[in-house]
Amino acid sequence: MSDSMKEVVETLDPVSRHLIPPDIALGTLVPLKTILELRDNLSLGLAYVTRAPNKVTNDVVNIARAIAGDDAAKNLPHLRRCVKPADIPPHLKTQFMNEGNGRQVHLGKSNWLYIVLGPKDEMSYDELVKGLSTIDDIRDDIFVGTIPVPLLAPTSQVQANMWSQQFWQTVYRKNNPLGPHPSTISRTEAIVSRDASIWMNLAHQIAKKSQKAGYGEPIGAVIVKRTIPGKSDSGKQSAPKEGAVESEVSNGEGGGPEGDNCNSHHQNACEVNGASHNTAEVPNGVINDVNQPDISSSEAPAQDSTKPDTEGKETTQIVAIAADARWYQQEKVGLTGNPMAHAALRAISMVAQKLVRAEDRPKSEQKMMEFEAFQDKPLLSDEQLVFDEDHPCPDGYLCHELELYMTHEPCTMCAMAILHSRMGRIVFRHRMPLTGGMSSEDRGYDACGGSSACGEGSCGGGQGLGLHWRKELNWTLLGWEWESDSIESLSVDAHLHA
Ligand SMILES: [Zn+2]
Repeated sequence: MSDSMKEVVETLDPVSRHLIPPDIALGTLVPLKTILELRDNLSLGLAYVTRAPNKVTNDVVNIARAIAGDDAAKNLPHLRRCVKPADIPPHLKTQFMNEGNGRQVHLGKSNWLYIVLGPKDEMSYDELVKGLSTIDDIRDDIFVGTIPVPLLAPTSQVQANMWSQQFWQTVYRKNNPLGPHPSTISRTEAIVSRDASIWMNLAHQIAKKSQKAGYGEPIGAVIVKRTIPGKSDSGKQSAPKEGAVESEVSNGEGGGPEGDNCNSHHQNACEVNGASHNTAEVPNGVINDVNQPDISSSEAPAQDSTKPDTEGKETTQIVAIAADARWYQQEKVGLTGNPMAHAALRAISMVAQKLVRAEDRPKSEQKMMEFEAFQDKPLLSDEQLVFDEDHPCPDGYLCHELELYMTHEPCTMCAMAILHSRMGRIVFRHRMPLTGGMSSEDRGYDACGGSSACGEGSCGGGQGLGLHWRKELNWTLLGWEWESDSIESLSVDAHLHA
């Protein structure tokens, strides 16, 4: 074990230290892409542009806004509203210069500007011409051009530069409307990557043990609680603060360049765009806390004082470890087994049981049933050991801000359970292209490798669900794949639901 890894191990709780294998196989984290990042990033549409002397750009923009409506997206906020004739892409310059009074407009001393009006689909051409004809300075020679534009914001400066050349001057606001904020990912990854390999090795180990015992498939899950000094345990107080900083940054970066290309008298017309965009932007992290009823508000100060010496050091503690147990008390036929005994569900349920235990409620009568659907009692000794420990911080809602490490990409059912439990982060190793719920990549029809479990092509392809980051589900968690060459693969049937 490397010195840096030894150092990390020393910060672990005693139970984790006891459980981990003597050698930790190392791996690297690769952030998961969101559905939007993979699908809509390059979607193009057509937009109307016009040109006018800069003293009337305000009027032009107002007319366009009146027709397109106030919806930020319909106003293409990532495109510069007003652009000097010299700054439009060369191929448009050539084209527009030869139309109408183009020669004059493109003269060096011209004070005309090109103005993006809005997406073609969102505005009626006749209404637009009617509106523009109310402006004296352009009435006699109304120019309306149609250009292809990217409909969604760029996710990097490089992309913005490329689009500025290919389509229209594009502004990168150092945010990512299609997924988690890049700085949130890199900051979190820097922290998580220090010990991610430890938890993945533990998940791997429990998976093997369960398979050996005949309880389940070689799939394992580990849930940990990370305590970062100076950060509220519940995550409730710190999250909005972080969000606010990012929001300021993006306002600063976005607001400035947006107005640059319009002359000072008419800056308003062009900045309206930027302002409405920025207020519509909700930085990642805040979403979680704004949209979710926060049940974790009952802080228990006594808890903090009794905590072992955190002394400014980050600590991680294991909260639950569980292996797949789908074949426990099950006849091993087919692939399904007991779906309630998937590793993720068992682990989440163990966290829940710890929270209930911490409340010190009188125990309800344990019913003896012949078949226990929820296999959420520890079956393996490692599971028992972790289960017997108290929850390090039994304040928050279920899995709020906890981290889940899994050997395999969880199935759709488990992915939704993970989301509902308000898990903060997920790291998994093996992707399950046919059945996984976290990845967004398209699922090929050939992903099953022609195994006998399906008829020809019937296991289907289609789109990944990308459940780790779906704003519309009111909860977004950060997700990574863990790639490693130094630990054996835990192969399962491609049709299996992990
Ligand atoms: Zn599952």
